[in-house]
Amino acid sequence: MNAPSWDLSIAYKDLSDPQINQDLKVAEEKVADFASLDPDSLDDLIAAIVLKDQITIIVRTLSSYANCLSSVDASNDGAKKLAGKVDKLFSEFEQAVNPYLQALVHLDGNDLDTVLAGNDVSGKLEAHRFRLERDRLKRNRLLSVGEEQLLSAMNVDGRNAWGRLYDNLTGSLSVTLTLADGSEESMGLSQAASLLYGPDSERREPAWKAISSVMQVHEQSFAAILNGLAGGRLTEYEKRSHTEQVHFLDSSLHTSRIEKRTLDAMFKVAKDNQSVGRNAALQMAKLFGTDKLKPWDEQASMPAFAGSESESYSFKQGIAIIREAFAGVDPEMADFVDMMVDRQLIDAAPQPTKRLGAFCTKFVNTRTPLVFMTWGGSMSDVLTLAHELGHAFHNWVMRDMPLVRSEYPMTLAETASIFAENIVRDALLEKAENDRDKLMMLWEEAQATLALMINIPVRYEFEKVFYEQRQQGEFTPDQFRELMAATWREWYGEAMDETNDMFWASKLHFSIPELSFYNYPYLFGYLFSKGVYAQRAVKGKQFYADYKALLRDTGSMTAEEVVQKHLGMDIRQPEFWQQSVDMVSAQIKEFERLIEAG
Ligand SMILES: [Zn+2]
Repeated sequence: MNAPSWDLSIAYKDLSDPQINQDLKVAEEKVADFASLDPDSLDDLIAAIVLKDQITIIVRTLSSYANCLSSVDASNDGAKKLAGKVDKLFSEFEQAVNPYLQALVHLDGNDLDTVLAGNDVSGKLEAHRFRLERDRLKRNRLLSVGEEQLLSAMNVDGRNAWGRLYDNLTGSLSVTLTLADGSEESMGLSQAASLLYGPDSERREPAWKAISSVMQVHEQSFAAILNGLAGGRLTEYEKRSHTEQVHFLDSSLHTSRIEKRTLDAMFKVAKDNQSVGRNAALQMAKLFGTDKLKPWDEQASMPAFAGSESESYSFKQGIAIIREAFAGVDPEMADFVDMMVDRQLIDAAPQPTKRLGAFCTKFVNTRTPLVFMTWGGSMSDVLTLAHELGHAFHNWVMRDMPLVRSEYPMTLAETASIFAENIVRDALLEKAENDRDKLMMLWEEAQATLALMINIPVRYEFEKVFYEQRQQGEFTPDQFRELMAATWREWYGEAMDETNDMFWASKLHFSIPELSFYNYPYLFGYLFSKGVYAQRAVKGKQFYADYKALLRDTGSMTAEEVVQKHLGMDIRQPEFWQQSVDMVSAQIKEFERLIEAG
C-alpha cells in the first residue's frame, strides 16, 4: 500500500457534477426564504432554526469539498472558483439569518422554551439550547440588524481580503539560500519553510535566514495586514461596547468556551514552568552539538547518530503502528482506523502541487471525517497521522448527534488529537528495544514541549501586547520586530541566543481574518489532553467508555463543565495545569538522562 489519495465521491463525483450547481441553487433559494418569515413570530423563529440547519449542511459540505480539492492541488482554479461562490453565499446567508438570531437571543425564557419545544414540522429543537444560551451571553454586544448585516457584507472584501493578500504574497514569494560554500539556491517560500522541518542540516540555517530576509523585504505589507486586522477588530469592539465594555480577548474566549480565569491560571503555570521548555531546548541543542538551540533547529528532525541512518516508515507501517496502539485502548478504535483506510478517507500521497501541513475536516452532510497530510516516512509523519486520526475519531464518535451539538471549540478539539499522539508514542516507547529508539520518541515529546510551552506563549503575549498598544495607533515594522524580540527573549531565556524577529510576519496564524489569538488553544489542548491521558492508567477498562462520553460532551458544554463532569477537576485552578506540566517535566528529565547516558 503506497500512501493513499482521497476518494471524495461520497460528496460529489468531480467539479462538473451537476449536483454542485443543484446544491448551490437549493441553498440560495433557502437563503431567500428567510425574507418571507417574521422575526416577531415564534413559529417563524422555529422555521428559521430549521432553515439555518439545512443551509449550514449544504454550504459546509460544498465548502469542505472545494477546500479538499484545493489542498490536494493548489493550482485547481475550478476549486478556487467554487470556494469564492460559497464564500459569497455564506455572507448572504449570515445577513439573511441575522434578524432571527437577534430575535432568538432577546426572547424571554418562556418564549425560548416554546421555540425549543418545536412543532410537528420541526420536531424538538432542544439540541439548539446550549448554542443559543451561549449566543444569549453576547446579546448586550450586538449592533442593530442593519449594522450587523453591513459588517457581514463588508467582511468579504474588507477583513477577508487581508487574509487573501497574506496567502497570495506568501504563495508567490521566492527566496534565495546562500549555502556555506557561497553557492546560491532559489526556491519557493513554502519549499524553504519545509526544509526547517527536515533533516537537511546544511540547508536549514540558510533557509531560515532567507525566509527572514524576504519577510523583511515585504515587511510593510505584513505590517499593514496585522495593523489592518487588529485595527478593524478594535473598532468593532468599541462599537459593540454600547452597554458593556468589550475586551479584545472576549471574542476569542467565547469561541474557545473558556473563562478568562482559566486562561490566566494556565498561563501562570506556564510562566512558573518556563524552565521545563527551556530545558527541552537545551537538551535538543546537545544533540545538534551546539551549546544553545538555534532558531533554525527548533523544528528539525532528530539528528542521526554517527553511523546510523534515521529510520523510515512506509504508510502501511505507519498505519499498522497506529492501529495497534489504538487497539490497546479498545478494539473499536482499531476498527475505526480500518474504516478510514478502506473508505479512502485519508489523503497522504505526495503531490507537487499539494498544500503544506495536515488537517482533519468532514463532509457534514454524511458526517464523514477526512484526513489530509503528506507522507514523508518520518516518525513525525506517523505522529501527525495519529494526531489527525484522533480528530477524525472525535468526529466519528459524534456522528449520530445533531450537527449543532457536535461543534466543539478548538480548545477541546486538540484533546482527541494529542491523546491519539500520546497513545502511539507510549506504545512505541514500551516497545523500544534500545536507548536510541527511546530517545527518538522523547525527541518528539521535547519538541512538542518547546513548541507548546515556550513558542505558543510567545505568540500569545506578543499578540496581547500588540492589541493593547494598537489602540494608540499603527505599529511600524520596527515596533513589530522589537516587540517580538523582547517577548522571545522573555520566554526562551538562556535556551536560545538568537531571536526570531520576523516571526510576526512568517507565522500565518497572526494573519487569519476570521479569528484572533489563534495560539493559546494549542497549549490548552496539549495540557488538557495530558490530564485526560493520565486517566487511562487510573481507570483501566472503564476508560474507553468514559473517554467517548467526554468527547461527546465537547459540543454542548464549556471546557470548565466538561472537566468538572468527567475528571472532577476545576481548570480555573493552577493545580489542574500543574499536574499536566509535571507529567511533561518527567519526560523531559528522562530525555536528559538518556542523552547524558549516551
Ligand atoms: Zn490538531
